Amino acid sequence: MCGIIGYIGKKQAKEVVIQGLKRLEYRGYDSAGVAFINGGLNVKKCKGKVSSLESLLHESENGHIGIGHTRWATHGEPNDINSHPHTSSNGKLAVVHNGIIENYNSLKKKLESEGYKFYSETDTEILAKLIESFLDKYPEIALEKSVQMATAQVSGTYGLAVVHEEEADKIVVARKGSPLLIGVGEDEMLIASDASAVAEYTDKVIYLDDGELAVITRDSYQVLNSEEIELSKEIHELAMSLEEIEKGGFPYFMLKEIFEQPKTISDSLRGRLNVGEVSITLGGLENVMEKLVKANRIIIAACGTSWHSGLVGEYLFEWLAKVPVEVEYASEFRYKDPLIREDDVLIVISQSGETADTLAALREAKEKGATVLGIVNVVGSTIARETDAGVYLHSGPEIGVASTKAFTGQVTVLTLIALSLGLQKGTIDKAEAGRIIRALSTIPNKIEEILEQSLKIKEIADLFTYAPNFLYLGRSYNFPVALEGALKLKEISYIHAEGYPAAEMKHGPIALIDEMMPVVVIAATEHTNDKMVSNIEEIKARKGRIIAIATPNNNEVMDLAEFSITIPETEDVLSPLLSVIPLQLLSYYIAVNRGCNVDQPRNLAKSVTVE
Ligand code: GLU
Repeated sequence: MCGIIGYIGKKQAKEVVIQGLKRLEYRGYDSAGVAFINGGLNVKKCKGKVSSLESLLHESENGHIGIGHTRWATHGEPNDINSHPHTSSNGKLAVVHNGIIENYNSLKKKLESEGYKFYSETDTEILAKLIESFLDKYPEIALEKSVQMATAQVSGTYGLAVVHEEEADKIVVARKGSPLLIGVGEDEMLIASDASAVAEYTDKVIYLDDGELAVITRDSYQVLNSEEIELSKEIHELAMSLEEIEKGGFPYFMLKEIFEQPKTISDSLRGRLNVGEVSITLGGLENVMEKLVKANRIIIAACGTSWHSGLVGEYLFEWLAKVPVEVEYASEFRYKDPLIREDDVLIVISQSGETADTLAALREAKEKGATVLGIVNVVGSTIARETDAGVYLHSGPEIGVASTKAFTGQVTVLTLIALSLGLQKGTIDKAEAGRIIRALSTIPNKIEEILEQSLKIKEIADLFTYAPNFLYLGRSYNFPVALEGALKLKEISYIHAEGYPAAEMKHGPIALIDEMMPVVVIAATEHTNDKMVSNIEEIKARKGRIIAIATPNNNEVMDLAEFSITIPETEDVLSPLLSVIPLQLLSYYIAVNRGCNVDQPRNLAKSVTVE
């Protein structure tokens, strides 16, 4: 959420900062802004997309040092004035910020009483004025000292970058709760919220940790902790290709990412699934496997789509590893003062590894003594670094705001963990595990088969493009898929949609069903088929329009449904990996038909770094 970029070095900063903002735009697109120093400080910003900002820039807005911001507004509506960068009263200093300054109101009052004027409704503007106030009071101090003094006074979260025209050889950055990294180049340095913005220029990155402040010049970086002691930080090698962060001929990242799933699931399975030996290798869990085997309970905490994959995980762990599971909304977890015992294992799931609520749940559980595992896509992210152990998805960068390949990556990883645990505990016999492992290895090809039906799915989407509501129903492993299907549609097409366990329909939602209501039923698990058929009959009796997701030999369901999309047979336990694919495509085509910007749906942003 919100993207920050900064550049200092041999190149013209404009080209790098604008390109970086385009890469980061998926994190927020309420407004965009830049500040360059070329003699004096030059700031340009506006409501809307980076492309609107670009058209405002003149030759003079350039130089060898610059910072930029794409905003996802928390405080103050998206307009030109509230856009970042925010500046000091004397116009010499500019700040970009990701996060929320929780005590901005009291600081603002204090600064106003000292004569500083405010122009925006944002929390961020106080940072600019607060840093300025220290420079006014102590003219001899360096910019980094004033930033350090200011951050000591604020509560809340920040990833921030500051430039000052009188110290034009440096960018000062600081982090608490919002991600920031330094890209180390040759005769140039970058700072960014995530690696996609620097990957083009360098493969060497340093991840800042909470409480750290860094001073970046074109050929050096200095990282200090909150006691101002210099730290020696590890330089990580980035393994991110440009191809991965470009659309590669697809009209939208989301479509590219849907079609990437055969590959991303193969990548997730590679080296981990041993079909012949009927075993699973998860190097990242080796040191905690004993804890997992002995765990009395697994708690899964996540948000949004990751929460849905967590719900699939609940079925997987309870069935394969016979361990009780509770799935929590990460945002609610710490507010209920959770009862956590030492033999509990918490699994947090987050695509970005930066989700603020999930991070808070992780920290709460750790403090209470639980072992915490992470299922994360972004290598080196905060959650990946703070968990005791974990498994990466290896899905590659997910840039479409609506998550697709990360969901199937998460379900794949959860399946691997549950199978591995089941085998170690002996709660699943080898023959059964062998069958599931073999079936898992064929999932990528089966997804290919579903993707080949995209035209048919588009035709169904064409018929329902203007439906005002949708209902999604599933049972067992596919109940979370019903939730995920409804979420996808809501997110990108703005159609009201609800997902329900199929049997719950008669406890309320059935009242909504009439000839105007499309109902997507996922009838893809054998053990629930008879009950699903009865539910479909109930919908049909009330003239609901049934779109069924079913296996090819399920004539009973296909005869009842008005439309059906077939997915290949697989083990029931693996069916979410297939059944979700047509739902992703259905929502994609409906959103495109409605003229929606699929990759940047309104009000949303990727990587939710505010609570
Ligand atoms: N709280 C700041 C604002 O609303 C920053 C939001 C962000 O992280 O983009 O401007």
